[in-house]
Amino acid sequence: MPQRTDLFDLGRLGLTSGEGRRLELFVHIEPFAYGGSSYAVMPELLPVRLDVSRTTGQGWALRLRFSAGLEGPCMRCLEPAAPVFEVDAYEVHQPGGGEELTSPYLDDELDLAAWARDALALALPAQLTCRADCAGLCPQCGANLNEDPSHAHESEPDARWAKLSELKFD
Ligand SMILES: [Zn+2]
Ligand SMILES: [Zn+2]
Repeated sequence: MPQRTDLFDLGRLGLTSGEGRRLELFVHIEPFAYGGSSYAVMPELLPVRLDVSRTTGQGWALRLRFSAGLEGPCMRCLEPAAPVFEVDAYEVHQPGGGEELTSPYLDDELDLAAWARDALALALPAQLTCRADCAGLCPQCGANLNEDPSHAHESEPDARWAKLSELKFD
């Protein structure tokens, strides 16, 4: 059973300036509330790859990579969806380097869980769908257009003809 890492103590790697290390860790990411629904992040114990480099002046350069699925209803057709997203994120932390070189995830320890969650949030599109070309639901009757691509309704009669049909010819 892999161990879950929420906080990681970079100092314990004992790296000196110019040294680096690649780590394979597991995080848990809390579900996302998105468009009124809840989306669980899968797998529950998510494997991540963390590249750590010790820079000069007691700084850190970090790279985090993983792929995660989001499980919940498709925002177009409401069927179950599980789109997968690739995440590739960088953080630089340089003591005394000013705000731009200060990582919000690095204090005494690296807040891996918070970083992974924010990085995944940035990778999400505006709509979570079962597939990129999901056809959604018929706006008139709610039928699933993925299952019935030729679905159509009688077109509305032309408004001018509707007006004419109201005329009474006695
Ligand atoms: Zn869909
Ligand atoms: Zn319809």
